[in-house]
Amino acid sequence: MKIAVVCCLHGTEPYGLEVVKKLPVSIPFFIGNEKALKENKRFIDIDLNRCFPGNRFGKHEDKLAYGLYNKLKEFDYVIDLHSSSNNCPLFGIITDPNKDNIELAKKLGLKKLVIMKESIASGRALIDFVDCGISLEVGPHNRVQNIDEVSNLINNLIENKNYSENIEIYEVFKIVKKKKDNILINNFEKVQKDQLIAQDFTGKHVSDEEFIAVLVNEEAYNDILCLAAKKVS
Ligand SMILES: [Zn+2]
Repeated sequence: MKIAVVCCLHGTEPYGLEVVKKLPVSIPFFIGNEKALKENKRFIDIDLNRCFPGNRFGKHEDKLAYGLYNKLKEFDYVIDLHSSSNNCPLFGIITDPNKDNIELAKKLGLKKLVIMKESIASGRALIDFVDCGISLEVGPHNRVQNIDEVSNLINNLIENKNYSENIEIYEVFKIVKKKKDNILINNFEKVQKDQLIAQDFTGKHVSDEEFIAVLVNEEAYNDILCLAAKKVS
């Protein structure tokens, strides 16, 4: 079983560097975007996690994606580390809900898994182009627990322990656009039809249907209030 860990696809998510330092030396890791990391920017030209499978003659991130895609081909499992500006708890993201990807989430011992079929990354995320892959979204960029929580998950996989029998699985079915500034809902909260979800001096934003909110008010997704998901198991 060959495992690879990828960190810092986004340059503003440095905690992954601390995670990879704690991994056993037998686990290879890849730093996604060192230039963006040095400059503390999400990316230099374009979002690296929207560039796969890459292009060796393209922009900075196209070239990085091309290199990573080729290096990661030989691995059975790819774990891709992210953090966010919003206050979400640790969860996994897969874009293809096939048996192998769901099994990987369980082997990591995850409690929550969100299926995002092209809803955000348009089918051009790193995990769309590996054999079996998952992104881990750990919560706020500088939360101190991120490093231990994610190291523990990867150790679960390596040491074959803490298999998650009771994983909650959600599937994103639409993007809720941001219309008002003051947002009144939280991550993994169940929103009811007609519930007030945001408001400001210009008026109210009421939900037109029931959903579970994911990645609420994420800074990286400018005009998005949240992703709307339903619980599938
Ligand atoms: Zn990220």
